[in-house]
Amino acid sequence: MARRDYLQEPMEGEKGIAKEKAEALFDKIREMLPSEAGFVKAEFEGPDIIVYLKNSKVTYENETIIRGAASAIKKKIIVRSDSSALMPPEEAKVVIESLVPKEAIIASIRFVPEFSEVYIEALKPGLVIGKGGSTLKSIGMQTRWSPKILRTPTMSCETLSKVRNLFFAESEFRKKFMLNLGKSISKPLGKSEWFKATALGGFREVGRSSLLLGTPHSNIIIDCGLAPEPAVRGIEANTGDVNKAFPYLDSANISINELDAVILTHAHMDHIGFVPYLFKYGYEGPVYCTPPTKELAALLLNDYVKLVQRSGGTPLYGERDIRNMLLHMVTRDYGEVTNITDELKLTYHNAGHILGSAAVHLHVGEGMYNVVHSGDMKFGYTRLYDPASTKYPRIDSLFMESTYGGPGDVTQNRGLAEHEIMEIIKSTIQNGGKVLIPLFAVGRGQEIQLVLENYMTTQEQYKLDVPVYLDGMILEASAIHTAYPEYLKESLRDRILNNRSPFESEVFEVIKGERSEINERGPAVILASGGMLNGGASLDYFRMLAEDPKNAIIFVGYNSVNSMGRRVQNGIHEVPLPDEDGKLMPVKVNMSVKTVEGFSGHSDRRQLINYVENLRPRTRAVFTMHGEEQKCEDLARTIGRIMHIDARAPMNLDSVRLK
Ligand SMILES: [Zn+2]
Repeated sequence: MARRDYLQEPMEGEKGIAKEKAEALFDKIREMLPSEAGFVKAEFEGPDIIVYLKNSKVTYENETIIRGAASAIKKKIIVRSDSSALMPPEEAKVVIESLVPKEAIIASIRFVPEFSEVYIEALKPGLVIGKGGSTLKSIGMQTRWSPKILRTPTMSCETLSKVRNLFFAESEFRKKFMLNLGKSISKPLGKSEWFKATALGGFREVGRSSLLLGTPHSNIIIDCGLAPEPAVRGIEANTGDVNKAFPYLDSANISINELDAVILTHAHMDHIGFVPYLFKYGYEGPVYCTPPTKELAALLLNDYVKLVQRSGGTPLYGERDIRNMLLHMVTRDYGEVTNITDELKLTYHNAGHILGSAAVHLHVGEGMYNVVHSGDMKFGYTRLYDPASTKYPRIDSLFMESTYGGPGDVTQNRGLAEHEIMEIIKSTIQNGGKVLIPLFAVGRGQEIQLVLENYMTTQEQYKLDVPVYLDGMILEASAIHTAYPEYLKESLRDRILNNRSPFESEVFEVIKGERSEINERGPAVILASGGMLNGGASLDYFRMLAEDPKNAIIFVGYNSVNSMGRRVQNGIHEVPLPDEDGKLMPVKVNMSVKTVEGFSGHSDRRQLINYVENLRPRTRAVFTMHGEEQKCEDLARTIGRIMHIDARAPMNLDSVRLK
């Protein structure tokens, strides 16, 4: 079997065929360009074709030239200036500063000679782009550097600047990696006779999601997650459950370097948590994701490492492996069709679950097969995102999440849910208590922030005049949201673009000092990271607040079966919790324990079924995943019956021949 090897040249024979095909393609591009463009070379860089010109100006003056060439070869073409034509950076910087209006508030201008690109980071990118792209065009024509825009988040964000700096510092490595990736993607493969799927994790369970898809010539995995709980408790403390912590990669009969790509749907740990481990053990291939997923992944993975270290364990991998993973990430926006091998095309679609979350559409061969993987998705109203998209070019089968796929999983209307949570907060505050809302830092955290901000600033009866404290990763995660307004719902996007970001409302107060200080202060609402009370900020506050019956805890998201959150939710009266010295002490749960349904970033059962029914075109088969066993089974059975299609709930390690 011919295999990818990302940092080495292809084998001699393969090199010959690939080279011939590429050269023929590049010749065709050259012939279509006017001679004054000064064609220097063309090359594959990752999934893109880059054309280097001595005089890139002609392509700005007449944009149809490149459009024509691209449609003739049916591939996207990116034009860059040959290094000999680039204006010296000091001069180019002056030109850029004179072209961009001051109000854009430029944070930095950085040149990346490896890619002939200049990155302009600004608070108001719209002003750098100019009307119809006019300012960008002037920058490109005058300096010959290809201008790229980065948005400054409206709140300071350590993760974002770290990831951006990493890419600037390692641009030489990136260039080499992308060129080699380009070679392997463009390598011609024979016609594939079959296409199959193997469930590696997250089937009939929630956690460690991973699906292997393969033909005789290509192998990719979609998601590669950790079951957070056994990963934190089990591996580190060796208390069992280890076998349930990560996907069955070793049973897949392929080695790490036989993988052509890892495709991520979104940044939650149960979808990405095992990826750095692949790099630790020698994976050198690409990891595809949307731009926000890259930064959210950096945040969550580093937090996981810190959390395990703090609890005295040894994490599965270190910061170095996470950095290595980030440097192999190739980002794609929704709707961009991308060749990931000669026979596989990937397109991301909005999934409505968290920032940058995506469903994966994979096109195999020339119309041989089309599969959609829903990722985690919300097909319903939220304050943050549009509902998951349901329009695809073609669908033969669908792999869909089933978190709330059980018969009882019909949640109440969002408006009622918002009202309910505000009523609990109001009565707890009026009785002199504190309200703790444990949240997943990415997703529910922002959704609940938006609800509180809205009610507490616009509705008289809920202007409670108490602080809403934010603690843990929520703040950093919200900051990343402000760097990607185009991934948010229109109304929210407009507020951020107009400097009225609800995440920075004066309703919120950030906890900087000791958590115990909060205990001494008066009534308050506390939004703390750690959705399932499995450690982190939320568990600290829970320990402080649990014994006082005046206080309340409100669960708004998913609690996995063995989590502390689920035990508290089920009404446990006393729990052993580590005190300041790490010694387990019994803590009485006297606070009022509430669950408010309806805020989930997952679809409820009705929405899941609506989603399948609304898919266009109709799918011919459904495979359920990412749900407890009975929910996966029941949902599959129900969909099969309603839609008269083949619907199944595969088990981990099951393989299905799709074609
Ligand atoms: Zn998720």
